[in-house]
Amino acid sequence: MSELSKYTKELSKLFSTSENIIIVCHINPDGDAIGSQLALYHYLKTRGRNVSMISPNNFQEFLTWMDGSDAINIFIRDRQKCKKLIEEADLIVMLDFNQPDRLGEAENIIKASEASKVIIDHHRNPVNFANLIISDPSKCATAELVNELILEIEGKQFLNRPYAEALYVGIITDTGNFEYGAYTGRSLRIIADILDSGIEKEKILNLIYNNFSAERMMLQGYALNKKMVVLPEYKTAYISLSKEDMDMYHHVKGDTEGFVNLPLSIKGIDFSVLFIEKDNFVKLSFRSKGNFFTNEFAAKYFSGGGHINASGGEYKNTLENTITYFLKVLKENNLRFEDKS
Ligand code: 5GP
Ligand code: MN
Repeated sequence: MSELSKYTKELSKLFSTSENIIIVCHINPDGDAIGSQLALYHYLKTRGRNVSMISPNNFQEFLTWMDGSDAINIFIRDRQKCKKLIEEADLIVMLDFNQPDRLGEAENIIKASEASKVIIDHHRNPVNFANLIISDPSKCATAELVNELILEIEGKQFLNRPYAEALYVGIITDTGNFEYGAYTGRSLRIIADILDSGIEKEKILNLIYNNFSAERMMLQGYALNKKMVVLPEYKTAYISLSKEDMDMYHHVKGDTEGFVNLPLSIKGIDFSVLFIEKDNFVKLSFRSKGNFFTNEFAAKYFSGGGHINASGGEYKNTLENTITYFLKVLKENNLRFEDKS
């Protein structure tokens, strides 16, 4: 019996007895948020369940090709419809996050709902705001965990084309196409099944990875060339982008995705930070190699969280003051880098 079986009995019962199921992903959904949401949606639809999807805000252009993505209701675009769906739901499944503030504007109405609530997620340290929390940080993507749960419920691998594509997108985007993240031999065996099912791998990889605008590429060049600061003594590098920088390259949502990973390719750099100036705050992304817990750093200093090697947070101040504060706390934490090597 697998470790997950203690959850799947209850989950299976909830799936089969609930009249109105909604699946909710986190704000600013990434490939795994949308991938896991669509995978579960296609599974439940195939099993004849009445299921709807909500995202707190818009998702990125590079995911709009996915089968079923046009059925995702966007809370900030369709508030009345989403509120009604939440009010009528008797089961709310929340995917790829474990803190209620990741629900954005939908947080209060979901908290107030009397529906059964389930969290399925692979981030550490879940906050308890559900009846059932299925949390497994050993999984490389929430999509992988969703698949394991369905496997346990069905007793065999469930696969159809839209499901396989959604699962594939969740796993490749959360591992940078198997460059980082918690993927295992088991994850690759699932990928093997997906590929054997005949999905169009080249087409999907092109849609996900080779779909940038020229201006986005130029912004990346500018960020590395003019806006990256390397601090070898702290094994750290950071990139900061002001609104003005982004305007110069006619920035659209998602253009800076992936920038934070770039400085980790520098020899001797174990910690990388991206600062993005927003209206009244600065959004930070953290990445690390090895055992520097960026999620603890994000939680302690930047009201954030995430995984050990990939996390994010925010700071309500100017870009300049945020960088000054970051440098101060970086210096306070320097010991941890020295311990490591
Ligand atoms: P990214 O840097 O790509 O925005 O986020 C990396 C990881 O950190 C993701 O798994 C995401 O869920 C998490 N993360 C990013 N920003 C925040 C935040 O503000 N709060 C929390 N709790 N997690 C975040
Ligand atoms: Mn994820």
